[in-house]
Amino acid sequence: MNETTELTKTTELNEELLFSSGPVTADRVAGRGGAFLVTSVDKGKVFSREQFSEDHKMFESAAKDFALNRILPIHKDLNVFNKELSLEIFKEMGELGFLGVDAPEEFGGLGLDKTTSCIVADRLSEGQSASIMVTASAHTGIASLPIIWYGNKEQKEKYLTKMATGEYMACYSLTEPGAGSDALSGKTTATLTDDGKHYLLNGQKIFVTNGAWADVCVTFANVDGKYTAFILDRDCEGWVVGAEEKKMGIKGSSTTTFFFENCKVPVENVLGKVGQGGPIAFNVLYVGRYKLGVTTAAGSKYTLNAAIDYANEREQFSRPISEFGMIQNKFANMIVRSWEADTVNYMTSGSIDTQLKSCDKSEADYYVNVQKAIEDHGIEASICKILGSDALAHNVDEGVQILGGAGFIEEYGMAGNYRDERINRIFEGTNEINRTIISGYTLKKAIMEEMPIRDLIVDRSENWIPEINISDDEPLKREAEVVEFTRSALAYILNELILKYGQDLKNEQWLLEPFADLVISLSVMDTCFKRYNQLEVGKHKDEVREVFLLSIADQLDIVKTKSLDILSYLDSLETATEKVDHFNNWLAKLNYSSDRIHLKRAVVTTLFKYNKYYLD
Ligand SMILES: Cc1cc2nc3c(=O)[nH]c(=O)nc-3n(C[C@H](O)[C@H](O)[C@H](O)COP(=O)(O)OP(=O)(O)OC[C@H]3O[C@@H](n4cnc5c(N)ncnc54)[C@H](O)[C@@H]3O)c2cc1C
Repeated sequence: MNETTELTKTTELNEELLFSSGPVTADRVAGRGGAFLVTSVDKGKVFSREQFSEDHKMFESAAKDFALNRILPIHKDLNVFNKELSLEIFKEMGELGFLGVDAPEEFGGLGLDKTTSCIVADRLSEGQSASIMVTASAHTGIASLPIIWYGNKEQKEKYLTKMATGEYMACYSLTEPGAGSDALSGKTTATLTDDGKHYLLNGQKIFVTNGAWADVCVTFANVDGKYTAFILDRDCEGWVVGAEEKKMGIKGSSTTTFFFENCKVPVENVLGKVGQGGPIAFNVLYVGRYKLGVTTAAGSKYTLNAAIDYANEREQFSRPISEFGMIQNKFANMIVRSWEADTVNYMTSGSIDTQLKSCDKSEADYYVNVQKAIEDHGIEASICKILGSDALAHNVDEGVQILGGAGFIEEYGMAGNYRDERINRIFEGTNEINRTIISGYTLKKAIMEEMPIRDLIVDRSENWIPEINISDDEPLKREAEVVEFTRSALAYILNELILKYGQDLKNEQWLLEPFADLVISLSVMDTCFKRYNQLEVGKHKDEVREVFLLSIADQLDIVKTKSLDILSYLDSLETATEKVDHFNNWLAKLNYSSDRIHLKRAVVTTLFKYNKYYLD
């Protein structure tokens, strides 16, 4: 079973009458996952880094200080395998509270909001050690959250108090040789001993981050066919750790196989209930995804900065290569990718925090509600992961090109970044699996009426470019129309797909992939528009303007291509051109064009004032 098939039987979110029918209004969907699908640009608001509170800024400053003064000076040493140094830094992170942001205060943590947790990961990434970030992120995310959310008081006292402070390092081992993307098809078994005091685990887990260093492991095994989570102590008999994997990148992190050979786990170390392993395994991955979005977006910015430094220094044809238009074009594209990813990341954390504000920490089911809020944002979490990892991949690839031959030589650092970034499109669910989630969840939200998508389909069927409440003299009226055109196109295409395939759409991967890309583009356009529109008039807004306009132009290109791919295919099944014509008619009415080269030149002019990413 994989996450896509899980969709049909996942949790009932608060399907109160809230989403039954009636006009689409921002207040009905604010703080809900998928709100960007239905809330027009003149109605919704988004959270962004410009709205960080004083407390947020305090954590931001502390994490940045640690990154720049402690990690950055030794980042090269941390990016090669160096257990002692990695553990030393890990423990210091714990002492400073960076590992306990999500853990409750009564168990040694800080119990702060999700935005703070993202800010800490974001700023720690400035230390430029992908390896230590993978080590810390696996510990705070997929390894700690199962215990925070599902652990009982004794388990939290025993493990979490030490994990939150860095005294213990934890890992999460789900993947098996035969169970990767199909994560719940694992063959590891757990058998109760005759005296009923222990489970004996037998099987093999692979690719475990922190594998050789961890004191605690959250793992999964079948108890009479019921997938179940367990907490393992390092001293569990029969837990055998394999050799370090030789990896393409993140070489400073530990990745190993585990062999469970009658591994003896006390029954009190069952996490949650027997049979609850599936939800435990998957629910924590949503957090892993949006936080990976944050660390990769951060990486995309420091990659850009390194490339600028080099391009300003390196001279060819008697001038710095940063003066060449083709190099400048790369910088403009890099900034746009980073800003888009950053924008969607904090919209997501802010939206989750909005929903969490209504959850009472003193209630017994607090963590059940936390998970519902986070799972509700499954679409956003996958989008963050894809946008961030793609932005980093793009920027590193262009970074290598900007460095020319030096990009290929280890000493200059970009070659290491090139290898390090590659894993981000593979773990925390491959980007293919994340695209199936985006499409599948959008379909689910429409069919189950968790979001008023049906209303949107009806409202927009003959009106792809509705009246938008932005004054005519507002220079962004045209861009608002582009976003609403895209929203209408997505509604139209989703309706056509549902009519043709119904729930079986989840098996049509040729269509799911471009449809996911459409959803991603709408989320980028919608969120970037709202973020830009909310900015206070002034220098920062002026500097964001061209980046935003470029983003809209780039995303519209994607929307055109992906929409026509889907509609041409549907038309060809019916030997008609009706759907393609319908799209093209509205595209002609939109009649939007962009002076992209001038915009890019303006972006680069601003970039050279700062000589670094300037939009944070
Ligand atoms: C360095 C590293 C660290 C890791 N850390 C951990 C960890 O701490 N804990 C842990 O449990 N796991 C960890 N993993 C495992 C990681 O999560 C998996 O590698 C990942 O989920 C992909 O599984 P797989 O490697 O078996 O690839 P496969 O599932 O075999 O996928 C191979 C290809 O097929 C595609 N594919 C598979 N299914 C579908 C589908 N339904 N539709 C479309 N395409 C599909 C994939 O997208 C991919 O392109 C780590 C892996 C690495 C390399």
